[in-house]
Amino acid sequence: MAMEQPKKVGRDRSKRPRAMKWETELLEIIEESPDVKTFRFEKPEDWTFIPGQFVMVFFPEIFGKKNRAYSISSSPNSPYLDLTIKLYGVFTHYMWTLKEGSSWTLRGPYGHFIMDMDRNNDIILVGAGVGITPLMSMLRWSTEEKIDRRFLLLYSNKTPKDIVFNEEIQVIQSMNPNVKVVHTLTRLQDKLKSNWPGLTGRISADMIRDQVKHWQEPGAEIATVFGCGPAAMLTTMEEVMISLGWPKEEIHYEKFW
Ligand SMILES: Cc1cc2nc3c(=O)[nH]c(=O)nc-3n(C[C@H](O)[C@H](O)[C@H](O)COP(=O)(O)OP(=O)(O)OC[C@H]3O[C@@H](n4cnc5c(N)ncnc54)[C@H](O)[C@@H]3O)c2cc1C
Repeated sequence: MAMEQPKKVGRDRSKRPRAMKWETELLEIIEESPDVKTFRFEKPEDWTFIPGQFVMVFFPEIFGKKNRAYSISSSPNSPYLDLTIKLYGVFTHYMWTLKEGSSWTLRGPYGHFIMDMDRNNDIILVGAGVGITPLMSMLRWSTEEKIDRRFLLLYSNKTPKDIVFNEEIQVIQSMNPNVKVVHTLTRLQDKLKSNWPGLTGRISADMIRDQVKHWQEPGAEIATVFGCGPAAMLTTMEEVMISLGWPKEEIHYEKFW
C-alpha cells in the first residue's frame, strides 16, 4: 500500500510515515564543499518521509548496534534519498572511505521537526553549516509543490566555499519569489569583503531581530521558526524570538550534537 504523501501530513504523530529498516547500496557521492559530501541512495518503493525528518545510519559489521542520525536533504518528490554529511569523527571518517556500491543500513524516517501543512503561515529558517540539511529538504519540496508560504532563510557559514547547496539555493531564490535568503559569513577574508553582498559575523540576536523585522509583513499570522545548527545559535534564536513575542510552540529546532 502506498504511504500517505507529505502534502497531506501535519504535525499529528499518527499521520507521520512509518519507519522501517533496510539495507541499500550507495548510488553516488556528491562533493558539496571541502568537508561536506552528499551520499545518494535510491528510495525504497512505497517509502516516504516529511521534509525535516531524519534516518539512522548503521554499519553493523563495523560498529555493531551503534548508529548516527542524519537529516534527509532531498525532497520527498525526488527518487533519491540524499544524506548530506560533514566529516567529523568516528562514523564520518569511515563513511569517507566508502565508495559507490558500498552497503549501508538505514532506518527511518523519524522526527517531528516538520512543517504543519494544515496551516498556511510563513516560515523562518535559521541554519548554520551542515545544519542546512533538513531546511533544504523543506525549501526544495515547498518550491516544487509551489507551496504558498513565504520563507526567510538566514544561513551562516565560515567562507563562501563552505556554503552547502549555494548554487541551488540561488536557483530556488530566483524561481520562488516567496523565498528570501540572507547569507552571513564568519571567516570572510578582508580582501573579499568589498565584493560580498551578504552579512558577516555569527548569527546573533541583533541579526535575527533585524532580518525578521525587515521581512515580516504587517498583520501576518505569526511565522513558524525552524533552526538547525550549533546549540549556542539555537539558544540565541529561541531567546530572541521569545523577546519578539513568539510563542514557544512556533519555535522548533533540531540539535545535531
Ligand atoms: C536528528 C539529527 C540529525 C542529524 N543530521 C545530520 C546531517 O544532516 N549532517 C551531518 O553531518 N550531521 C548530522 N547529525 C550529526 C550526526 O548524527 C553525527 O553526530 C555526526 O556526523 C558526527 O558523527 P561522527 O561519528 O563522525 O563523530 P563522533 O565521533 O560521534 O564525534 C565526536 C563528538 O563530536 C560531536 N560532534 C559531532 N559533529 C560535530 C560538529 N560538526 N561540530 C561540533 N561537534 C560535533 C559529537 O556530539 C560527539 O560528541 C545529525 C544529528 C542528529 C541528532
